[in-house]
This record gives sequence, structure tokens and C-alpha cells, in this order.
Amino acid sequence: MTATPEHHLPELLHPWHTQTFQETLTHLQSDAEQGLSSAAVAQRLAYYGNNELQEGKPRSRWQILLEQFSNIMLLMLIGVALVSGGLDFWALQSGEVDQDFPFKDTLAILLIVLLNGILGYIQEVRAQKAIAALKKLASPQVRVLRDGQWQEIPSEQVVPGDILTVEAGVQLAADGQLIETANLQVREGALTGEAEAVKKRTTAPLELDTPLGDRLNMVFAGTEVLQGRAKLVVTATGMITELGKIAALLQSVEDEPTPLQKRMTQLGNVLVTGSLILVALVISFGLIQAGNLDRMRELVEVSLSMAVAVVPEGLPAVITVTLALGTQRMVKRQALIRKLPAVETLGSVNTICSDKTGTLTQNKMVVQEVQTQGGEFRVTGEGYSPVGEFWAGEDAITTSDYPELQALLVAVVLCNDAVLQGDPSQSPAAGWSILGDPTEGALLTLGAKAGLYQELLAEQFIRVGELPFSSERKRMTVFCEHRHYEGATSLFSKGSPELILARCTAYQLGNDTHPLTPEQRHAILNWNNQMAARGLRVLGVAYKAIESPLESEIEEDIEQEMVWLGLVGMMDAPRPEAKDAVERSQAAGIRTVMITGDHQLTAQAIAQQLGIAQEKSRTLTGQELEKLSQLDLELAVDEVAVYARVTPEHKLRIVQALQKRGKFVAMTGDGVNDAPALKQADIGIAMGLTGTDVSREASDMILLDDNFATIVAAAEEGRVIYTNIRRFIKYILGSNVGEVITIASAPIIGLGGVPLTPLQILWMNLVTDGLPALALALEPADPNVMKRPPFSPNESIFARGLGSYIVRIGLIFALFSITLMVGAYTLEQGTDHSENWKTMVFTTLCLAQMGHAIAARSFNRLTLEMNPFSNPALLWAVLGTTALQLMLIYVPFLRHFFGTQILSTEELLICIGFSSLMFVWVEGEKLFIRWFGKGVNLEG
Ligand code: ADP
Ligand code: MG
Repeated sequence: MTATPEHHLPELLHPWHTQTFQETLTHLQSDAEQGLSSAAVAQRLAYYGNNELQEGKPRSRWQILLEQFSNIMLLMLIGVALVSGGLDFWALQSGEVDQDFPFKDTLAILLIVLLNGILGYIQEVRAQKAIAALKKLASPQVRVLRDGQWQEIPSEQVVPGDILTVEAGVQLAADGQLIETANLQVREGALTGEAEAVKKRTTAPLELDTPLGDRLNMVFAGTEVLQGRAKLVVTATGMITELGKIAALLQSVEDEPTPLQKRMTQLGNVLVTGSLILVALVISFGLIQAGNLDRMRELVEVSLSMAVAVVPEGLPAVITVTLALGTQRMVKRQALIRKLPAVETLGSVNTICSDKTGTLTQNKMVVQEVQTQGGEFRVTGEGYSPVGEFWAGEDAITTSDYPELQALLVAVVLCNDAVLQGDPSQSPAAGWSILGDPTEGALLTLGAKAGLYQELLAEQFIRVGELPFSSERKRMTVFCEHRHYEGATSLFSKGSPELILARCTAYQLGNDTHPLTPEQRHAILNWNNQMAARGLRVLGVAYKAIESPLESEIEEDIEQEMVWLGLVGMMDAPRPEAKDAVERSQAAGIRTVMITGDHQLTAQAIAQQLGIAQEKSRTLTGQELEKLSQLDLELAVDEVAVYARVTPEHKLRIVQALQKRGKFVAMTGDGVNDAPALKQADIGIAMGLTGTDVSREASDMILLDDNFATIVAAAEEGRVIYTNIRRFIKYILGSNVGEVITIASAPIIGLGGVPLTPLQILWMNLVTDGLPALALALEPADPNVMKRPPFSPNESIFARGLGSYIVRIGLIFALFSITLMVGAYTLEQGTDHSENWKTMVFTTLCLAQMGHAIAARSFNRLTLEMNPFSNPALLWAVLGTTALQLMLIYVPFLRHFFGTQILSTEELLICIGFSSLMFVWVEGEKLFIRWFGKGVNLEG
């Protein structure tokens, strides 16, 4: 072998399961106690590449592009282009050349179709990219041992030979061989399709041909740790992992259309059907009137114009921009959207089920009280810095004077998976932080305040086993051997006080143990309740000496006949912004419900501080819930504001019950077992900081800051987006309907000729409607968005007056333009500007939309009541569009191309006069509804 460093790197295609982990470590040139060195990591990262899966085979770009043209409106436009091309061709053939730009309508329409197709394509590709990028942003952190230090790094940077620890809730980032396990259970469904949990452990070498599912000494990327913990050495990363091998084979998943896409399909169907019916009517009416086929050509041209007029060609672009901007605004407010439909449906949420710890509270725990059978102790100090004192009554005390207190402190430091980071020699207050669960971090700080640093205890005790914490068990137990006394093993347990106490038969006082009397139990539970009622999170602590050697698989029934040490009460202050957010959501018709694993009284106290519950509000504990049938639960969910001591399973039942009651539910979750509830919820919300990978994978949205207020902010953005979309749909379609009716009326009234050519219509729909519509999409949030109840996510696009508005405004549009059209036609008949009526109609329709745009900024406030400069984009759009329209009339080349006529000042003023009527009308409607339409809700 040559001496280039790469060739010293280990070969990875190796049957790892056939050897012991020590052999694997040697092979991978790694060390279980030190991990890799930074230099080795850099070299391996360069050689093996990042730990990433390459995308599976996506739909081909061509496929995506082609699919855009299957849209019914675009198909109709293609039809129009072909017929129009046929007419032009026929005109050319028959020598009746009446235009300088033959086929310009056809070409223009095809161009628009193409543009729309490309736009749809870009939108889809961008959405895919955005989702990929979001996935990356949410990419999990892993805990890795390097240079002898535990640290957290992004999973992409894991290399073969790295030593990792994993615990319940983690999705494995790489393949690896197990070095140590504690009750490790893994779900390998991603690989084997098997949903059952698999118990994993270090084993003797396995046979070479052991199938993947039976390689118990290995774990694989993409699988999920359901329980327990493990330390492992990474054997493969990226595409070399078992998951990587099948990733290439994975079919791309067909995405469900979003609610908005469904609504757009509905809209397209209605418009196309409606216009086809109208076309049929106009043609038959025209033919019957004429009695022969002479007018066929005119009627066909009118029909073509109508078909072009009905399609809102500018709409897709405006929607794309709105959604993109909306998602961006959400990320700015710390809400990361994982599934696009959530952007549109967030505004419909009417119930938020939120965790307490970390979401409504700050998750910065500080132990304030300890209560043992020897006394009560107050603890001073702030944050995680280990500076503080223990006080009994009026006196500061030394903990070693109270053996049972000292024992409790040892127990909570040992029964702990967090790491306290900081330098004791440094300025003590600053720079202390924790890795891991804040509840446990607070306990490490508590121990350190008494000088019991975890490094110090690690010199005396070595952990030999554990029964990990889970939301179901609500407690955690570790087994430690005394390093200096051969065979002396103890268990240390902490968790929900009721559960721990129930498993104790004695208590510690001084250096002795005494049996627990029923009165003492009662007193302890009383204490627990009192602390909880003050909003403290309370844990019970116990220990026990283990006589017989530990089984290799520890059973839960060992957690009994323990010795009670005491209670620890920690403060987790409510987030200051959460109270505000709860209030805001209440005003917005969104009810907040607290769901927590914590004690009922703790939950109740915090809920009251936040305004989620009142003193008399109903709370339900997991135990009580267990006894309710699903039907009874459905009857209860409308009243209950706080659920305490629940398990993830209960969460699922609560969502289902709420949904049965017709609620649109957003629910937060962080644990592995929360995944089903998150999937069931209409909006599943995971935590960006503290959540498990598995919960994030199951969610629709991630709170980057774990903050409840962010949920409310996202809901607000959702409403703004939906309101804006409805606003410009109203605006655009009103004019489409007006155009269609105006065009249809010309032959019916008997004016010779088609008032608007397809090219002019495209101009209107794209430019003179499109630009103001884009500006309307930038309209700032209506101050009332969060002061009204949410709308149903299932409502039709035409709901709440939108359909009737479009038809009504369309008719008014048509009324004004037809009046003008007939007037101008009659007056100028026979003069040298007898064709000018067409240009006047064209101009009036365009300019009327300017007034409409200004009025459409709000559904219920008068333009006079709004700040005219709060949407500068709209002002620019209106000015710019008006200028463009004038250029179309007065710049010779453009006039020629668009087939317009020069208008005299007088004619132009008439157009402006007629078009301003539109503004007056829409404003008048608002006043009318304000005065006479009490209770009519036109918002959003
Ligand atoms: P929540 O996050 O809603 O407070 P959890 O499921 O995390 O609920 O915790 C439920 C209960 O389990 C807590 O009230 C506490 O008594 C106990 N508990 C929480 N974390 C730990 C832990 N790390 N070790 C032991 N017990 C714990
Ligand atoms: Mg928790």
C-alpha cells in the first residue's frame, strides 16, 4: 500500500456483526473512552464524505413540467390558441390580410400558457428544494465523543469510528456496533418494515449470514430508539449505511395536493364550465338572431375572447409569491414549516394543545426546595451555576451535617444523564450550561452547590445498569457499583413522588433507616401537594442496596422496598410572552389547553398564572382519563383546560376526542411516543431545541425556539396569508367576470365586432390585474386578524360571500363598461373614429381595476379610514399600471401591436370618469353593509 493517508483509513464493507465490538474498534482505529481525534475526524470527513443520504430518484424534471399543462384552464387556453391560429391562417389564405402581425394572438396565448407552465414548474421545484432545505435546517444533533470530550454535532458530520451515545427518541444517524446498552429497544421499521420494538444488546459474534433484522449487536441509520440508551461505534455513514443502500431504490412519494391546490382545481372547473356554457349561449343566440351562418366568424372570435377572459392568467404567479413570502415570514418568527399545507391551514386552528414544560415555561429549572425526613431546606442561587447555599429556617447549613440530605444529593447526581458544563475555577456565575434534560441539569447544579460534582462521584461509583426515564414510567432508576467496595451495588431512583413513594417501605434519617408509617406517607404526599400548588415541579428520590447480583436484563419489579430520601422542588417559571400569547389566542377564538406529565397542582398553578385555567376550571388527570370511555371524554374535552400526569397515549385520545367535537387541533409533542398524536393532530408541532428526532419527523411544523408564543404567531401568519389569497382572488375574478359579460354582450346587443381582442385581454389579466394583485398580496395584516374566530379549513373557496361578490362585482363592471360601450358606439358611429369605442372599453376596464384594487385593500374598512401609505407597493402598482395602459394607447408601436386607437382627451376623461365609478361602488358596498348588514362577516 502507498503511504497516502487515505489508504490508512479502514475499509468499511465489513461484516461487523461477526466480530466483537473490541475488534470493530481496533479495525476502525477508534477508542471507546477517547473517541477519534479531531485530526482523524477531518481526514475521515474528507475521505468518506458527509453523513448524508443522496436524494432518491425524484420525478424527472420533464415529468414535472409536463404535469403543469394538465391543468384544465391551460388546456382551454391551448384550445383557444389553436382555433385562433386556424382563423388567422384562413384569413391569410383567403387573402384578407387584416393584420400586420398574423398569429400574434396565438403566439401570445401559447407564450402565456408556456409561462404559466414554467411558473408552476418553478414553484414545484422550489417547493421541493425548500422542503429539502428545511429538512436540513431541522437536521438532528448527535452526541459524540471526540478527543475525550462529549459534544453535540450535526449528524452530517458523523464519521466511521465515531463513538456515539443514543437514547430514547433518537433517530439513528448512522450504522454502528453496540459497545454498551441499557434496556435498548429499537424500532427498525424503516429498514425491515417490522413495527415491533427489537431489544438490542452487545452479543457474542454472530453468524455471517445473520439477516439484518437479527443482528442484535448492531443498530442502523434511520431506525428509532424507543427506549433505553446505548453507546456505539459508527461503522458506516451516508450512502454506505443499510438505509443508504435502499435509499436509491425508494420510490419518490406522490404528494397529496394541498387544500389550496384543491381549491384552485375547484375554481378552474367552475370557471371553465361556466364560460363554456356562456359561449354556447352566445353562439346559439347570435345564430338564431341572424338566421344564417354569416356571423359565425364574429361569434367564434367573441367566444375565443370570452374563453381567454375567464381564465385568471396572473393568478398562479400571485399565489406563488404569496406562499413563498408567507413561509419566509413564518421562519422569521421561528416557525419552520415542514409540510406545505400547514402554511394554508394554520389560520384555521381553533384549539392548541400545548405541553407545559419548555413550551409554556422557560425550561430553565432551578431547585428551590428540598424536603427530607430530617427537615426542609431552601436552596439559593440562580440558573445552572453551582453557586448557592442550603438554608434550614434562618440558618445556612452544611449538607454533610445531614446524612439523609447528603444521600439524596448523591442519588440525584448519580441518577442523571445530563452533563453540567462549566469551569469551577472560573467566575462562578457565568458560563455554566447543561447538556441534556433541564430537569436533570437542575439536579446536577443542586449537587454541585454541595460540592458533589458528577466527576467526583464518578470516581466512587460506576453505573452498571439502568431503567431509563420515559413519559409512561415517569421515573428513572440507575444501578451503581461502589468502586472501592467489591460487589456493593445500590440503586438510585427519582421520579414522580407518588410513584416513587409507593415503591418505598422505609425512609432514611441520619444514617439509619426506619419503616414508613401510613401517617408519614400521608405527610409526604401533603408536602408534595403543597409544593406543587406553588407551581414547583416536584421529584421524589429513593435508593436501595442491592444484595443479589444484577440480572443482565433488569426488570421493573426491582424498584420496590426502596428507602425514601425526600422531595426536590424546582421552579420552572412561565415564559413571560406566553401569557400574552394565550390572551391573543383567546381573542382570536383559539382555545389553549395544557397537557403535561407533571403533577396536577403544578400544572394547575402554572395554567392559572398564564390565564389558561381559572381557579374553578376543570382539570383531568391521566388516571381519571383512563376511566373515561372515549364518548365521555368527548363530552369532557370542551371544558377541560388542563390535563395532568398524562402519557402520550392519552394525548392521542385527547386529540381524537377534540376532533370528534369538530375542533381543528394543533398539538405539541416532544417524545418518541408523541409521534402518533402529532400525526393525528391537524397541525403536529415539534420542538426544535428539545424535541426528539422521531417527533420532528412526525410533525407539520417545528418551533425553532420551543416557544408557545410562536404557535400563535404562526397561526396569525396563516390567517394573513389566507386572507390575502382570498383578497386578490376576489379582486382578479371580479374583473374576469366583468370582461366576459362585456364581451358577450357586444354581439347580443348587435354591435359589429369584438370589443376586446385576446391579446388585450391577456394584457389586462396579466399586467393590469396582475401587478396590483401582487401588491395586494403584500398588504400588511389587518389589525383585526386575531380578533375574530378562525374559519373552517374545509370551506369552499367561494364561501362567505366570495362567490356572490365576484358575480356581483362582475355584473357592475359589465354594467359600467356596457353603458360606456353602447354610448360611445352610438355617438361615434359613422365618424372617423368609429372604432374608438373598443379602446374606450379596454381602457375603462383597466382603469376601473385600479380603483377596485385600492378599495379591495380591506373588506370592511373604508379607504379613507386606512393609512394610504401602509402598502406603498400598491400605490406604485396603480401608478405604474396606469402609465403602462396610457402607453398602449399613445406610443405608436404599442398601439399598433395591441390594436388600439388614439383617444382624445375628452374620450380619455370619459373613460376615467366611468372607471372611477367602480371605486365608488365598492366603497358604497362597505358602507351599506356597515349600516344595514349587521352580522354580515366579510372579513378574510
Ligand atoms: P412534562 O414534560 O409535561 O413535564 P414529562 O413526561 O417530562 O412531563 O414528566 C412527567 C413527570 O415525570 C414529571 O412530573 C416528573 O415527576 C417525572 N420526570 C420528569 N423528568 C424526569 C427525569 N429525567 N427523571 C425522572 N423523573 C422525571
Ligand atoms: Mg418532559
